[in-house]
Amino acid sequence: MSLIQFHNIIGGQEQTARASFESYDPYTGKPWALIPADGVAEVDQAVAAAKAAFRSKDWAGLTATARGKLLNRLADLILQNAERIAAIETRDNGKLLSEMTTQLRYIPEWFRYFGGLCDKIEGAVLPIDKANMFAFTRREPLGVIAAIVPWNSPLLLLTWKLAPLLAAGNTVVIKPSEHAAASTLEFVKLFAQAGFPAGVVNTVTGLPLEVGAPLVTHPDVAKVAFTGGEPGGLAVYQAAAAQMKTVTLELGGKSANIIFDDADVDNAVKGAVSGIFAASGQTCIAGSRLLVHRSIHDRVVDGLVDLAKTARIGDPSQMTTQVGPITTQNQRDKVLSYLGIARAEGATAVLGGGTPAGLGDGWFVEPTIFTSVNNQMRIAREEVFGPVLSVIPFDDEEQAFAIANDSPYGLAAGIWTQNIGRALRGAAAMEAGTVWVNTYRAVSYMAPFGGYKRSGIGRESGQEAIDAYLQTKTVWIDMLGQTANPFVIR
Ligand code: NAD
Repeated sequence: MSLIQFHNIIGGQEQTARASFESYDPYTGKPWALIPADGVAEVDQAVAAAKAAFRSKDWAGLTATARGKLLNRLADLILQNAERIAAIETRDNGKLLSEMTTQLRYIPEWFRYFGGLCDKIEGAVLPIDKANMFAFTRREPLGVIAAIVPWNSPLLLLTWKLAPLLAAGNTVVIKPSEHAAASTLEFVKLFAQAGFPAGVVNTVTGLPLEVGAPLVTHPDVAKVAFTGGEPGGLAVYQAAAAQMKTVTLELGGKSANIIFDDADVDNAVKGAVSGIFAASGQTCIAGSRLLVHRSIHDRVVDGLVDLAKTARIGDPSQMTTQVGPITTQNQRDKVLSYLGIARAEGATAVLGGGTPAGLGDGWFVEPTIFTSVNNQMRIAREEVFGPVLSVIPFDDEEQAFAIANDSPYGLAAGIWTQNIGRALRGAAAMEAGTVWVNTYRAVSYMAPFGGYKRSGIGRESGQEAIDAYLQTKTVWIDMLGQTANPFVIR
């Protein structure tokens, strides 16, 4: 079967790849597409195009309202192309088509929300303490942004960066993951159709050290917005710091989902199952540590097993499939290795614990639930990034909050309780960027998202996200026109 060649766009032009590498369909375990294998030359070219566009009349000269209209036009085009692009992402990274179709219909809201903010970026007139002076501030874009994205949710996580950075008037070079770049390369074609000037949005693809690292250290890149794992995030942070660049980092998690003895157990069980098995556990917010009050432990575990074993595992392109494959073979092997680690540490698999039968060469792992886990085990401390749930019992509220916070990560937390006081105490106590009460996994363009502790730096979504892509300039004007002689002491 012939492979589909995807192309990068630089300066508005589709690029002919010098060389390409294969991208795999995780359901079949076979290559299906060819992605350009770029290097320093393409990075230089893309950054130069983005820099020229940043300074161009076509982009810098647009009114803020006109910029907002472009973002809205893009949102319309995404909706029109939603099904086609969703199918590409499903093929490339194994996300469920049912999830992708919903996601592609929601992604436009980010572009509408930030499109609406374009003409609300305001400076201030300062009540300055010098009678002859008038002073005001301008809020200005930073320049060329490097947007570096992981494989687990390529378009959504890209959107969280693109919508605010474009609304603020920046330009961008996108580096999608080498494991799931196809949907991004299809998606960026829409920018020209929406009327964005050439060079505002550019892409480069390839390996982290051949493309990602030179992009981060390129002297004309003003800021790096990175979503990915901790090792990559740390490398990007260090390289950016050496050049005095700012970063937004969205990194990993080991989120605690706490079920108290006063919770509605049926709802909590559904929330816990979707919190870990959605996207086959390949989400940064996976509720991978389930903390359960000892008095309801067995009831909750029975409920989890009963519900999770009904999941239909299989072809992600079928709308009825509920659990799809793991995106890469390496990641599948990593998840399987954690199953061995958990057992060796003394955990018991009450569901799953291996690979499902009858799914050919696809990269699947069974939805797995471990009991007899304590918070010091590796399975409870390290991000597995797969469909693996660890159940940890607790005896009281104080202990539950302490276990939840005993983690190097702090991306999200869930609390299941009918007690409003406990919910509010928990919301305050959790060292996490997002806390869900009697729900899990909700996100919105309006809601700031990001990590405490080693889960990251900065916030995406919500109004404050645009500040991450702006800088403030102060302007002083002498209104009297009587410049003092510097050699006459007053
Ligand atoms: P990764 O860190 O391996 O790669 C992410 C991206 O960074 C890829 O495009 C990769 O090529 C690039 N990259 C890696 N090292 C780099 C370097 N030194 N310099 C420049 N670029 C580099 O992450 P992944 O395995 O693709 O994604 C999974 C990770 O992402 C998980 O840890 C997950 O928790 C995290 N994640 C976080 C969020 C969030 O919002 N906090 C969301 C999704 C995923």
